[in-house]
Amino acid sequence: MSEHKKWRFSKLPLVKESNGKDYFQSKVNLLFSHFNLVGVPVLTIHIIIDSFIADIASVYIDIVFLASFLGFYLLNEAKYHKLARYLFLTFLNLSFFLIAASTDQDLGLLYLFFPLVAITYIFFAQTNNIALYFYLVLSVILIFTLLYTDLKPFGNVQFIIGGGDTFYILNIITSFFLLIFLVGFLVDLYYSTIKYLEEYKVSLEKLTWDIQSKNSELKKSNQNLDSFVYSTSHDLRAPLMSILGLVNIAKYNSEKDNQSQYFTMIEERILVLDHSIKNIIEFSRNSRLEISKESIDFNSIIMNTINSLNHIEHAEKIKFNYSVNFSASIFHDKNRIEVILNNLVGNAIKYHDFKKPEPFINIDIQKEGEKILISVSDNGKGIAKEFHEKIFGMFVRASESSKGSGLGLFIVKETIEKLKGSILVDSEPGKGSEFIATIPINCPKN
Ligand code: ADP
Repeated sequence: MSEHKKWRFSKLPLVKESNGKDYFQSKVNLLFSHFNLVGVPVLTIHIIIDSFIADIASVYIDIVFLASFLGFYLLNEAKYHKLARYLFLTFLNLSFFLIAASTDQDLGLLYLFFPLVAITYIFFAQTNNIALYFYLVLSVILIFTLLYTDLKPFGNVQFIIGGGDTFYILNIITSFFLLIFLVGFLVDLYYSTIKYLEEYKVSLEKLTWDIQSKNSELKKSNQNLDSFVYSTSHDLRAPLMSILGLVNIAKYNSEKDNQSQYFTMIEERILVLDHSIKNIIEFSRNSRLEISKESIDFNSIIMNTINSLNHIEHAEKIKFNYSVNFSASIFHDKNRIEVILNNLVGNAIKYHDFKKPEPFINIDIQKEGEKILISVSDNGKGIAKEFHEKIFGMFVRASESSKGSGLGLFIVKETIEKLKGSILVDSEPGKGSEFIATIPINCPKN
């Protein structure tokens, strides 16, 4: 708060609103328009009173005032704010002076100079010092000229016959209330500007924070992209090079038996290559595609997953058990759920321990409240504790015997995060592993 005490009205900074307008000045423009509009009925009443108690010249003057106020209003609304302000102040200063100098009695017009000075200050204190001093000096000169000449700067000229005490009292009351209103407006505007500035500061800080976090996200994805390009190109080239090597050997080796062995080896490399390409496609689809919703039947998704993975070596030796604890189908992102299951079940097959008498994989899908729990467990090789968190990173292989690109679980984690879910692993080397994915039934579409 101590910061605010240092502020002065004229030193309030120019604050831009979201629409590009200056906050303070736009409030002053609004006040100016309202002021001129309020002047219209007030002057109309003046005309009526004048036509009864004053002479015809007063009525004409009132009509000129009425037309001028309408003109200032229209100019201001047409965005000629500066021109409207100059004309307004020049007109009122000169009119008050001339009317006061031309009446046969004191109409209390001198008092109206006080609110006029306050308006001059509100108009220009913040934006235009030259105009501020010009109009202040003009008002002061006119006031003192009237005071020192006893309201007769041009001698005893009396064009207008005033309305007597009624107008004297009316003008004092008008000046008084106008002054109170203008001071109130200033105080109000002062505090609302401070409040606006504070809100502005908070939103600016939030924006800066947003930009910073977006920036670090961008840096992270750039680094990810770099290592992704580097490693995937390696993963794509390695099987291609060994295929090329095998083709060369096969070309110079004419024995039939050997040749079929080469074909088997080439086929294996092609499957590795295909797996890497599938990983890349899954990764890019997950980050690119919006979440979709379609009716899915988990039983058939599990069956399809097991069938599509039975080409993996020794898959036929594994006993698959699965259970789904709800019958109704659910609207969810089928593709992403297939990607998650494919990778988890694929890994459970790849990293199985075939020395065990009964290798098994359990797939369990449950609905719990607003969540779906997908559990894939096996009695395979298991994963050492120090790798439990790392395996979800890019290109992380947890053992020497790892066969893939190290992208599978990274893709699983990214996919689950897109669905606003989470994944946990529980595993012990030699005993087996369990992966539990939790995803909300109603994931937001974004
Ligand atoms: P990869 O392409 O190497 O299979 P993943 O990201 O799918 O990459 O898995 C990372 C590592 O986690 C694997 O290299 C493997 O060592 C380990 N892993 C994943 N799933 C299992 C599992 N069910 N049993 C044992 N180890 C696993």
